[in-house]
Amino acid sequence: MSAPVLHVDLDVFAANIRSVRARTAPAELMLVVKDDAYGHGLDAIVRRAAREGVRWFGAFDVRESLRARHAAGPDARIFSWLTVGREEIAQALRADIDLGVGDAVFLEDIASVARAEQVTARIHLKIDTGLHRNGIRPEDWDGALRRARVLEDEGVLRLVGVWSHIAEASDADDDEARTLFDRAFGAAEAAGFALEARHLSASAASHARPEFRYDLVRVGAFCYGVRSVGGPSGRELGIVPIAALRAPITHVADHSATLGVGSLHGLPSALARRAALEVDGTTRRIAEIALVHTVIELPPGAKIGDEVTVFGDGAASATDLAEAIGTVGEEILVRISPLIPRNYRGL
Ligand SMILES: *Cc1c(COP(=O)(O)O)cnc(C)c1O
Repeated sequence: MSAPVLHVDLDVFAANIRSVRARTAPAELMLVVKDDAYGHGLDAIVRRAAREGVRWFGAFDVRESLRARHAAGPDARIFSWLTVGREEIAQALRADIDLGVGDAVFLEDIASVARAEQVTARIHLKIDTGLHRNGIRPEDWDGALRRARVLEDEGVLRLVGVWSHIAEASDADDDEARTLFDRAFGAAEAAGFALEARHLSASAASHARPEFRYDLVRVGAFCYGVRSVGGPSGRELGIVPIAALRAPITHVADHSATLGVGSLHGLPSALARRAALEVDGTTRRIAEIALVHTVIELPPGAKIGDEVTVFGDGAASATDLAEAIGTVGEEILVRISPLIPRNYRGL
């Protein structure tokens, strides 16, 4: 090997999906594929998940939603929660994407594009349950429902979902959010909307708190085998990291070895002197991360051309590295350069 490669094991991914589903049933899984499926490559991930029978996909924006539609086929449901502007709305509606709606102006934009395109948009109204990122404030909720009723009667949209996003930082805050959420969908049901999907939780809460599961759980991290920082171990969660970053040894000195991967490939330089790799069962401290190389303590018997696992493969995980520098495993994965080839097993 002469260059770094991100190995992605789709069979392990499929096992994680089964594990997440077993824990969260009867809620259905919406696989979150934002940020190029957390750096693993959206197309291969969506194709394999579709083969495993995953029916819902959650994408951040329209560009990724269209890719997910292409990879998952016409029967999948793709939920896009950040659409901006009329052109994107039109693209989404043409591809039969479910749209998240977090404000009244956007609701009108969707209605007007749907009218022009002569289609019926499927929308999921978002209630702001306290994060204040985006979402209809509780005091504006009834007004939004009245407006959705008028537009639904006109035939330009159908309100099929109510959703929100929670911090998953404290149980008390999450409980408060859930009370607001229950009130919001209660009002939508009372107003006669035929809701198919209530969804509130991501990986952590969907795992730990059954009452947060509702109809759909929007899970990204756990399906990719990424545990939460400070949370339960992968073993407790029944998940295994699906990606391993491997790089070749390019130079050997008396006490150190150099790997052909560096910060330009996405490794945070802050890992130097704070994190360690596991090489053949030994712990090797990272001495330096430069642009295109990394210097580690010399592994026993190291030779030029040997492959070293930077994370994954049962050695330190992305989350283990992240914990050393106060970030989360997702950040390590998402930063791995798209120029590093992804090598898939189980395509
Ligand atoms: C990222 C994201 C998720 C998935 O979060 P994980 O912790 O990776 O499971 C769910 N919903 C929304 C709105 C998100 O942005």
